[in-house]
Amino acid sequence: MPIDLSRRQFGVGLAAAASMVAAPAIAGSGAKIVVIGGGAGGATVAGSLKVQSPGLDVTLIEPHQQYTSCFFSNAYIGGLYDFAKLSHRYTGISATGVRLVHDRAQSVDASKKLVRLQSGKMLPYDRLVVAPGIDFKWDAIEGYSQAAAETMPHAWRGGDQSFTLRQRLEKMDDGGTVVIAVPKMPYRCPPGPYERACVIANYLRQAKPKSKLVILDAKMTFSKQAAFQDAFAHYYKDIIELNLSNDIDDFTVTRVDPADGEIRTKAGLTMKAALANIIPPQTAGAIARDAGLADPDWCPVDPDSFASTRAPDVYVLGDSAIANEMPKSAFSAHSQGLGVATRIIDELEMKRPDPGRYRNTCWSIVAPDDAIKIGADYAAGELPGKIRGLVPSNAFISKPGESAEERKAVYDEAFAWYPTLIEQIFKTGAKAGSPAKTGFAR
Ligand SMILES: Cc1cc2nc3c(=O)[nH]c(=O)nc-3n(C[C@H](O)[C@H](O)[C@H](O)COP(=O)(O)OP(=O)(O)OC[C@H]3O[C@@H](n4cnc5c(N)ncnc54)[C@H](O)[C@@H]3O)c2cc1C
Repeated sequence: MPIDLSRRQFGVGLAAAASMVAAPAIAGSGAKIVVIGGGAGGATVAGSLKVQSPGLDVTLIEPHQQYTSCFFSNAYIGGLYDFAKLSHRYTGISATGVRLVHDRAQSVDASKKLVRLQSGKMLPYDRLVVAPGIDFKWDAIEGYSQAAAETMPHAWRGGDQSFTLRQRLEKMDDGGTVVIAVPKMPYRCPPGPYERACVIANYLRQAKPKSKLVILDAKMTFSKQAAFQDAFAHYYKDIIELNLSNDIDDFTVTRVDPADGEIRTKAGLTMKAALANIIPPQTAGAIARDAGLADPDWCPVDPDSFASTRAPDVYVLGDSAIANEMPKSAFSAHSQGLGVATRIIDELEMKRPDPGRYRNTCWSIVAPDDAIKIGADYAAGELPGKIRGLVPSNAFISKPGESAEERKAVYDEAFAWYPTLIEQIFKTGAKAGSPAKTGFAR
């Protein structure tokens, strides 16, 4: 089925930006742009800047030689996608002329406009983009730590952790209980824990039919709840037990013991997990907090431009930023990245920038050939309580009881979306030719 590219902003990635190569040289040509973090947000900004405006001096700082995505990792964990297909090299981005520095940003001196790297090198900037994703509040759950995550994986960052969770699932005895601990909002990928419950339950149903899956949720409600609960009842009635917090019982996980699999909630419920998937509360990536860009956990930004409200000439985007109702997703991070690249170029060209317009869609697999989705467009405006923030419009959401054909179409969209987004972020930067601009970013 052909995908509606314009609807999902696929048409405005690096390939779209490639059409701008012929644009006149800009006033800020040669300006130094440093981007921290080569993930969905940071890699998008770096590639888009360089392709739109080849005269810019763009440096992307990323410690890893390749990026292994967390997005779409649930498909792998459920046995529906290859692990190898989740990893991507930076060669496409380098080919645009972006300077890749495989190092870790250690500190930022916003007054001197300098980034210090772990290697000791200093990088000066005219504009800084900070997109380091998330970090975890390791002290939020007693007994949980980076070491404990080897036994009780969070799998909330891509790579080894996703692999560990799948391995442990395969090794688990039939009849064991898988427990998924879900934190309060905000966290990366709001529907992710429930999609994970579905794909694991689907695996259990086939491979370990005596097993169960228990969700211990710190929240009272969750994203796409009606459609997810419909799927739980339809496919996994005897497998998934959903425990949402309520006024009486708080199912926030407060203590774990990796040695024996014991898990305790705030309300005092204890249970033994054969496999515990503990998703801890999260914060902006450490470098964003250390640079003084967070307040206290996430980074406030101007909703129009994603410019930090705490440091001049610095932008924060992706999961680290406070984007109000706009979910922390790869789709959002990519959309924000395109917007920030355009904004920086406009600023350097001393042009009046267009208001920022962004978009998100999150697909969730609930069973083979069945997926659901949620999405909206976002622009700066007034939120309830007279707060200025990103206001959604044109929102849509899957509903319970949709036809099998409709759901299969959404499932196919999800599987088409992943390689398309990856192509846009990591691979097509150097290629010419482009679809038309959609108005969301040049
Ligand atoms: C299980 C799961 C499923 C998901 N599914 C989806 C989905 O279906 N759709 C969707 O849109 N999103 C999904 N997401 C969410 C998505 O993965 C994130 O929202 C997205 O990756 C955020 O992009 P980012 O650029 O902010 O962070 P990241 O993609 O995490 O990139 C951050 C990068 O910064 C680097 N970095 C960190 N600190 C430093 C430093 N000090 N110096 C230099 N570099 C640094 C990291 O190495 C990393 O490469 C899912 C997430 C999970 C956990």
